[in-house]
This record gives sequence, C-alpha cells and structure tokens, in this order.
Amino acid sequence: MAIFEYAAAPESVRPKIREQYGLFIDGGWAAPEGAEYFSTINPANEEHLAQVAQATAADVDAAVRAARKAYDKYWRKMKPADRAKYVYRIARAITERARELAVLETLDGGKPIKESRDFDIPTAAAHFQYYAGWADKLEWAMRAGQAPDPLGVCGQIVPWNFPLLMAAWKLAPALACGNTVVLKPAETTPLTALALAQIIRECDLPPGVVNVVTGDGRTGAALVEHPDVDKIAFTGSTEVGKIIARSLAGTGKRLTLELGGKAANIVFADAPMDQAIEGIVNGIYFNQGHVCCAGSRLLVEERAHEEVIVRLTERIQTLRLGDPMDKNTDIGAINSREQLDRIKELVGSGIDQGATLVQQQCELPGKGFFFPASFFTNVQTSHRIAREEIFGPVLAVMTFRTADEAIEKANNTPYGLSAGIWTDKGSKNMWVAGQLRAGVVWCNTFNQFDPTSPFGGFRESGFGREGGVHGLREYLAH
Ligand code: NAP
Ligand code: MG
Repeated sequence: MAIFEYAAAPESVRPKIREQYGLFIDGGWAAPEGAEYFSTINPANEEHLAQVAQATAADVDAAVRAARKAYDKYWRKMKPADRAKYVYRIARAITERARELAVLETLDGGKPIKESRDFDIPTAAAHFQYYAGWADKLEWAMRAGQAPDPLGVCGQIVPWNFPLLMAAWKLAPALACGNTVVLKPAETTPLTALALAQIIRECDLPPGVVNVVTGDGRTGAALVEHPDVDKIAFTGSTEVGKIIARSLAGTGKRLTLELGGKAANIVFADAPMDQAIEGIVNGIYFNQGHVCCAGSRLLVEERAHEEVIVRLTERIQTLRLGDPMDKNTDIGAINSREQLDRIKELVGSGIDQGATLVQQQCELPGKGFFFPASFFTNVQTSHRIAREEIFGPVLAVMTFRTADEAIEKANNTPYGLSAGIWTDKGSKNMWVAGQLRAGVVWCNTFNQFDPTSPFGGFRESGFGREGGVHGLREYLAH
C-alpha cells in the first residue's frame, strides 16, 4: 500500500526549559545536598535538554520531613471542601498550560505530540478533576460507620512511559484523601513532574504538601527505605517491584504495586475485522509499545490468521515513524538507548528461536532512538518474545482453535494486567472475559482509560488499584 507524502507539520511551541533544575522541597526549589546533577536528553535527537538534580538520602529525608510537617500542620486538618479547591486548581492549571506540557512531555520522552496532546495531558487533568470531586465525599467510599482517615506521608515512584499521567494517577487521589506526598519521577523523563511542581507552587498549595525529588534508582530506594513514610505507591518493572516488596515486608507500611504486563489480545474469526485491526495496532504501537497494558500477545483464531496477517502487514506500512514533534507522527522515539538495546536483544532472540519477523519498511532518522513497527509470526508460547515484556513496538502473533484454548493461552503468563477480546457475539465476549486473569479486559476496544475506572494487576503485574473509588481506598486507613 502506498503511503502519501505529508508535508511536515511540526509543533511550533517551545516551552522555556531551565538550564538546571533543583529539588522541589517544602514549597521551594533547593539544590541537592551532594551538588550532583545529571542530564536529561531528547531521545528523538539525543540533544541535551537540562541538568536535573540527583537527590541523595539526605534530600529525601528533607522532603519527607517537609511532607510530615505539612501533613500535621495543614493538610490533614483542612476542611475537605477546601482541599478539593486546591486539587481542582491543579486540574485547571494543567488544562491552561496543556500545550506547553504536551511539548515538554514529547521533548523529554519521545512520544508523538499527538499522543501527549490528546491523551497524556488531558487525562492527567481529568484525574485531578475527578478526585477533587471526591475530597468532601469520602465517607461514601468507605464501609458504613468507617471514618475516611488519610494515611500520612506517601512516597510515590513513577516510570518514564507516561510521566505526567502516572504522577497524576498517584498525586490526585492521595491529595484528595488528605495525604502529603514525596514524588520521584523517572530519570529519563523528569521535566513534566518538575513543571507540575511549579504549577503546584503557583496554585499556592501549603508548602510541603507535594515534594518532588529527582534522581535515579538510588533516590527511589532512599524513599522506600525512609522510616517516616506511611505508604509507597510504585509503578514500574516487576523486578524493582519485588525489591520494594521485600524491603517493606514487616514494616507496616502500606504498598501498592503497578508492574509489568504481557497482555493477550484475542481475535475471534467472527470479530468486526476493520475495528479489530485498528485495535491491534493501537494495542501494541501506541506510545511505541512502552505501555504496561499493551496488547503484546496477539491470539488469533486459526481460520482468521491469514486475513489478519495480510491486513496487519499492509497497515503497519501506513504508520508514520519519525520526529515526535510532527503532528502527523504515529511512532515516535524509543525512550532511551538502554530501552532500544533491550528491544533489539529480545527481537534478536525471536529470530534465533525461529519466529518470523515482519517489519514496517521505512527509513529511520539518522539520530535518536527509533525502532520500526514490528510483529512476529510462527511464535511458540515458549519463546522469550511470547513470555517477556518487550516494552517496544513488537507484537508476538499466535493462533488458537477453540475459545478454551484461547483462554488457556491468554492466562499462560506470570502477568495479569490487561486483555482484549474481539468478537461479534456479546455472550462469548462476556464468557471469555470472566475467565481471563487480568485486571482490565477490553471488549471490542483497547486502551480505554478513564479516571472513574479502576486499573491494576493480578499476580506479577502487582496489587492495588488506581482510578475510580477503588483508587481512593488505597489512600485511606481502614
Ligand atoms: P523501573 O526500572 O522499575 O523504574 C520505575 C521507577 O522506579 C523509576 O522512577 C526508577 O528510577 C525507580 N527505581 C529504580 N530502581 C529502584 C529501586 N531499587 N527502588 C526504588 N525505585 C527504583 O521501570 P521502568 O523501566 O522505568 O518502567 C517500565 C516498567 O514499568 C515496565 O515493566 C512497565 O510494564 C511498568 N509499568 C507499569 C504500569 C502499571 O500501571 N502497571 C504502568 C506503567 C509502566 P530510574 O528512572 O532512575 O531508574
Ligand atoms: Mg529525557
């Protein structure tokens, strides 16, 4: 299929990026105790964007102290309806500065501007908006007779795939419930969390209610180990999640873990095929496949296999890969060289183990980290590409003959975050969905997110829920 040439449509806004960012502690900007900084780059051209502070254990301690003071002095005592006004104010400020935040997200992380503009930033604002509405209605989230008491100081650690959105998922319910927070963004994508810190300052939240400490895994570990933190909320890899679970065992601290996934996207032969192909594409190529709930294992009913492969092969040729700042771009940059190497290594293992690779034919930009839209056929369930999370634009396609076989294959994974089902028959949809061990099951759609809807995993995908009423209870004592 021919792909039309499009004229370049670059986003023209360039937000002001400071040369150097300190830590956001107790309502102000502070230099890191160790005077150490690291560089955050634009993965689409490998250019340096800013110097960001590496927080030490002493900085984390200062942030936790500020959060404790703010909890005792202001936030816990504040009338819930007043707390709600602050959370609403954050939602409005994000919306007012949406364009600037979208550009910043794309520059720092490599995702296409159309995704940060149409998904990440509006959904982040929607979470603050939604949870603000809950702040003075928390009794309704509790069992009868229980008081909605906050937990205290929460340590929140987020990954690089949806930097602002993951911060919003965590901050909004915590604040609405009356907790104070120390947030640790990912090393490669700290800029929108720092912009959010500035927004929170301008929204005049009492000092210390939100603190942002940047740094690498050491900063995260210092936050986890801090004795005065009441809860850790972590989104990231299963590997680090396990380390955190071990380190918190027996401390009495609360913990929620949102970890990896290897979701099955099940396509029956009677599926609405046009929609299913789009759902497959959205399921795996959205955000370059850097999505914990990506539909990375495609299970196709055997009689539809040939048709799906022909259509998917054609469809991936029409995806536009390139400059993430171009409004036409579908596939932007891989977040880091490290992640690109990991994708290449896993794709190499797929070829070595005998699977057949199909790739989008296009020229990759000379600079930056890019990987074309890809999928594998002839995949065995034992192959690494069928078992391990690739976290890139790479799909493993397998087949099944009966619904029972589809369910068995879908559940044959240590993970359990999400799944998709495509069929014309409503009863089959519901019957299969009920047997999938996954936190979210999308029927004839994929990647739908809403602040009112809970999200979270089974087994090695973690525990606890974010979103909806369920997400509130994770921030209330009970
Ligand atoms: P990661 O390596 O686990 O990192 C996540 C965060 O933890 C980062 O801020 C990281 O800092 C920090 N960290 C690293 N080592 C730590 C330690 N020992 N103690 C405390 N914090 C530590 O994961 P990632 O590679 O950035 O993110 C990709 C993973 O996140 C994937 O597995 C994906 O499935 C998962 N994810 C899950 C969800 C969900 O909702 N279930 C959502 C999005 C992503 P640095 O950045 O400095 O390493
Ligand atoms: Mg970066």
